[in-house]
Amino acid sequence: MTIQFEMRNIRLSYGSNEVLKGIDLSAAKGEVIVIIGPSGSGKTTLLRSINLLAKPTEGSLRLPGSEIRFTEGQPPSSAEILAFRRRTGMVFQSYHLFPHLTALQNVMEGQVVVQRRSKAEARSRSMELLTKVGLGEKADSYPHQLSGGQQQRVGIARAMGTSPELLLFDEPTSALDPELVGDVLGVMKALASEGMTMIVVTHEMRFASEAADRVILIDNGVKIEEGPPEQVLRHPQQERTRSFLSRIHLL
Ligand code: ADP
Ligand code: MG
Repeated sequence: MTIQFEMRNIRLSYGSNEVLKGIDLSAAKGEVIVIIGPSGSGKTTLLRSINLLAKPTEGSLRLPGSEIRFTEGQPPSSAEILAFRRRTGMVFQSYHLFPHLTALQNVMEGQVVVQRRSKAEARSRSMELLTKVGLGEKADSYPHQLSGGQQQRVGIARAMGTSPELLLFDEPTSALDPELVGDVLGVMKALASEGMTMIVVTHEMRFASEAADRVILIDNGVKIEEGPPEQVLRHPQQERTRSFLSRIHLL
């Protein structure tokens, strides 16, 4: 088993509010990890700390061949942070597409600006990715001409464009009308089956049961329970997991 990603003892505070209280998490290459937990428990902050949109105060993050440590008074350099972030991709709850760019241009943007790919190369890779997420025909549409589900699939193609080694999803379907959720989850399952390493915050328990290798429950900035979906979702060991699942009507 090759470890693709590891976080050790990550702590993160906003002012006096400690949001992440020493979290350890690792992902094997190709593993799909689903993170669940109550609103406000720190799930988004956890993902943002992995791609360093939020800066931990303590702990370390590791991808193959590179480690970033957070120690008080010795912040990592911005070059280190950028290099680390570029190896990850993020899919946001609210898509975050540029409204003035077409689907194709949205997918090309990061490849051209961040990765300095030629436009021709970025265009051909982006067309491939849009086709893969079922939107080859929509390449020239602007975000406002697309449904939420289509916009989110553009968001996934964009995240894939820069060839990330780790893909992060923050409640990717929670802003969608129910009938649009399936297409997005379908694309995510296809990526999972191709061996993409993924950390997914979601309340889609069917996705968790069918696609996750491991489910982790976070509450109040602490990892409460972790295990195969069958165990965590059907036979949780911890009272806090049971009460969360019963609140979302799963137990
Ligand atoms: P979740 O995604 O599980 O709902 P979040 O990670 O968004 O939880 O938030 C966890 C806690 O951190 C909340 O108390 C929230 O108010 C706080 N928080 C999140 N982002 C910020 C921020 N940028 N500044 C200050 N507090 C924040
Ligand atoms: Mg959140």
